[in-house]
Formats: sequence, structure tokens, C-alpha cells
Amino acid sequence: MNISPDSLTAIYNQAFAGFKEAREGYLPRLLPQEIGTVISVSNGIARVSGLPNVGSDELVIFAGKVFGIAFNLDEDEIGVVLLGEYWNLHAGDEVRRTGRVMDVPVGEGLLGRVISPLGQPLDGQGPLLASGRLPIERPAAAITNRAPVTVPLETGLKVIDALIPIGRGQRELILGDRQTGKTSIAIDTILNQRGKDVICVYCSIGQRGASNAKAVNTFREKMAMQYTVIIITEGNEPPGLAYIAPYAATSVAEYFMEQGKDVLIVYDDLTHHARAYRELSLLLRRPPGREAFPGDIFYIHSRLLERATHLHSSKGGGSLTALPIIETEAQNISAYIPTNLISITDGQIYLSPALFELGIMPAVDVGKSVSRVGGKAQRPAFHMVAGDLKLAYAQFEELESFARFGARLDEESRKVIEHGLRIRACLKQSEFSPWPMVDQIIILLALTTGYFDLIPLERMKEAQHALRISTPRIPAEIIERLEQAETLSDEDRQAIVNITHEILTEFATSSNSKLDGVTGPAGRKQDNADGLSHKRFREPS
Ligand code: ATP
Ligand code: MG
Repeated sequence: MNISPDSLTAIYNQAFAGFKEAREGYLPRLLPQEIGTVISVSNGIARVSGLPNVGSDELVIFAGKVFGIAFNLDEDEIGVVLLGEYWNLHAGDEVRRTGRVMDVPVGEGLLGRVISPLGQPLDGQGPLLASGRLPIERPAAAITNRAPVTVPLETGLKVIDALIPIGRGQRELILGDRQTGKTSIAIDTILNQRGKDVICVYCSIGQRGASNAKAVNTFREKMAMQYTVIIITEGNEPPGLAYIAPYAATSVAEYFMEQGKDVLIVYDDLTHHARAYRELSLLLRRPPGREAFPGDIFYIHSRLLERATHLHSSKGGGSLTALPIIETEAQNISAYIPTNLISITDGQIYLSPALFELGIMPAVDVGKSVSRVGGKAQRPAFHMVAGDLKLAYAQFEELESFARFGARLDEESRKVIEHGLRIRACLKQSEFSPWPMVDQIIILLALTTGYFDLIPLERMKEAQHALRISTPRIPAEIIERLEQAETLSDEDRQAIVNITHEILTEFATSSNSKLDGVTGPAGRKQDNADGLSHKRFREPS
């Protein structure tokens, strides 16, 4: 077969026409890219020159893949907050712009994982399966997209659910001195969300490695990891990481909220966050204000907590409940950061070191604690039984401080004190043992009807236990109605009251016979079993 050179040329031209066209249309272009230079590096901050077009909060990348956020934009240099190990950075190193702001991976794949605020896994369980990425700083929901707080977020802690109830979408501050049980309250609340279709995000900021390990282990042991994401920065990491951690955690939580889910986020704790921000601001030479915090310290917390909300049903109806934690110094709740946060949030739970020392745990100081919106979200059945408790408890606390001065008390006041001591004993609870709603209602009902007043104070714990294990004596349909806990009908109430009366009378009779046998030092020791001598409230004989 003969092939003429002309036909070959035609075939070639035909086959490569597109390629030729592309080749002819190609114009070599230069892609401009700004490359800056590190001037100096110190304590989590770098000064960089040569990036004239960098934007505020833009992510920049250093040699060795360390990220930074452009914070201070001056005319001839920028101040960059470093987000990684900066020990190997030197003056003269290259810095490149990325053209985007800081973002984090989000999605269902994060559930059960422990990650850093940059979205890197810290649990050694392989790469994250993220559904997407969201910027760490996002605008809060508009007013028109918000709905009132109407559904309770049950903590499983009697003292909080009964006296300082929290609603889904609320922001409730937990504050107290160091080692007063702040973290335990937050962890208990997360543990209590098991099976309640609430996603939890625990953000640990600047804590010790040992505390973080303890928290993660508790979540693992109590099977809370399936519905929890943990975001961790430790105290020895650059302050930039501690600064971005709560924003990153909120974006992770918002992803779920925007899917219509109820989400709970714990920031443990914002004191470390404020300190990290103060450190960065001072290093960046921003002018210091009160307690050396920069002027915008209120804004960094308010823009964070404004993102917690209950979305309108047209926006999916999801909610984000925030439990920020703050550490006070020497019980000073009127210091700068605590007062800022008290004014930003919808209430606070104050933990008193004095109560903690007396062994009254959770050490919630009911008089200094408040929930501004949660009462509306409390379930009607629960509201009915817990209604007068706060008043009775407040009266008791007032009289108790009076009685400390050795005042002689009349019979009526003595009764208030005896009743108050029993309320306090009922509100005590050990950590990591949240109580279901039904058990709480039954105990509170027995308390408000005064049946616990029959029981010796030192046997209150056992009496509560006896009541709890005897709940099967309450007809199943009443328990079912209680679980829905819409309202408590008079008949149901009466039925429960009768049964609790029976159980407690049986218990009181058996305990009286037991106590009769107790004499001498053992008997006295039992009197002080809860760390409180109720004898001091008795009238002098
Ligand atoms: P820090 O200031 O170090 O963060 P914190 O205020 O978060 O401390 P926790 O770590 O929660 O306090 O608790 C302090 C100690 O009190 C822990 O050893 C914890 O086990 C104990 N504790 C907390 N709550 C209870 C409780 N309800 N019953 C018994 N022990 C408790
Ligand atoms: Mg703590």
C-alpha cells in the first residue's frame, strides 16, 4: 500500500489540530507571588517584612510548614502569631501567603476523635475523615434566625437541674477557684448526654497534659466518645494555638448545629484563653489596659459566645449550648475576666471552695448562681417539684449563717434548718454519676413533701439509695409519663408521694432500730459523717 507524504501530513494536521491551537494560544506568564522574610522570632510571635498585600487574619506559611496568622498589619512589617513549633524558624527564613483564612476540618468523621485546633489527629487513630472545612471565625446567627430557648439540657446533676436549669442554646458560665470541681461538672454534663441525641465538643485550652489525659480516659471509659469531639491544646504549646482553640472548636460544633442537631460545647477554660491572648498582645506591643489585658478582650469572648444559640426552625432548629469555664483567684468574681464573662453569658454556676472543703460536692453556691433563661426550658413536671426548693434553700442558708454565731433558734427556724440540711444532703452527688430525670423528680418530690425530714442526716445517702432502688414499686405507666415529663397530674403526684412515704417510713424505722444500737464514739462519728455537724444547730440544752 502506497501512502503519499501529503496524506500523512493531512492525517497529522487533523489529529493534532487541537494541540497546535493550544500551543499557539499559549502565552508564558509570570505568576506573581509574595514571599516575605522573617525579621525576628520570639515566644510564639514572628515579625515579617515583604508581604505588602497580606490581609488581616490571613494564614501564612513558613519554611518547615509552620503556619501563622497575620495579626498586626503595619506599613513595613507584619506581626504574625505562630501556630506550631517555631523553634526551627530563623531570621531571614521565607514566608508565603496562602490567600485564605485559618480553617478546620469538620464532619461526622470527627466524632470520637482527639484533635488539635489545626485539625491534626492527636489520638494515633489515622487521618480524619472530614466532610469539609470551615473557617474558624464565622459570624454569629442573625437575630431573625434565632429562636427562644425552650428545651432543657439535662446535666444529670440534681443541684443544677433543679435549681439552676440550663436550656439548649443557652450560655452558662462555670466559675470558681482552682480545684473546686469546675471540670467535673462539665464532664458530668457531657456524660449525661449519652443516648440523648446531643453532640458534645470538649475544648481544653492550656491545661496540663495529665488533666487532658484524665478527661479523655473518662470519656473513653464511660462510652462518651461516640458522640464527642475533643480539641486539645496543652499549656506548653505556643499561645497562638490556645488562642485559636475555642474558635476552631466552635466551628466544629457549628457544623453539627447547622445540620439541625443539638450540640453542647465546653471551653475549659477561658482564663487560659484570655491569658494566651494577653501574652500575644503584649508581645505584639498592643497597648495594655486593665490587668494588662488588651482593650479588645471583651470582644474576643463576646464574639465567641454569641455563636452559641438556638436556631429557628427555618434554619434547621439546631442548637449550640456553651459551658465556658473561668478560674477565679481568691474567690474574686468581680475581677476583670469573670465580670466580662458574667455579663456575656445567660447565667453562672459559682463553685465555692468553702463548700468543697466541707465535702459538699458539687460545691455549687446556690446563692451566687443563676440561670437567666433555663427556667423557661425546665420540663413542667420538673418545674412543679423543684419550684419552691430554691426559696427553701435560700432561707436555710440565711438562717444557717445566723446559727453559726450561736444564736438561739425558735422551733420554726430549727425546722427550716433541719429541712435545709436535708436539701443539701440530697443535692450532694459524686462525680461521673449523673442521675436520670425520673429519679431526680422522685427524690425532689420526697424532699419537698418533707418525708426526708424523718431520716437522720447521716443516713440520707442510704435513704436516697433505698428510694432509688425501690422505684419499681411505682407503676410503670406513671414512670412512662414521668419520662415524657410534660406535666405531672395530681393523681400521679399523689401515687408517687404515697409510695415514697411508705419506702422512707420503712427505711426510717429500720434505721432507728439500727441507730439505737450505736453508742459512744462510733455514734458521734456518724453524726459528722457528711463533714457537717448538724448538732451545732440544735438548741443548747
Ligand atoms: P482546676 O482548677 O485544676 O481545673 P477544677 O476546678 O476543674 O480544677 P476538678 O478537676 O473538676 O476541679 O476537680 C477537683 C478535684 O475534686 C478532683 O480531684 C475531683 O476528682 C474532685 N471532685 C470534683 N467533683 C467531685 C464530686 N462531685 N465528688 C467527689 N469529688 C469531686
Ligand atoms: Mg479544671
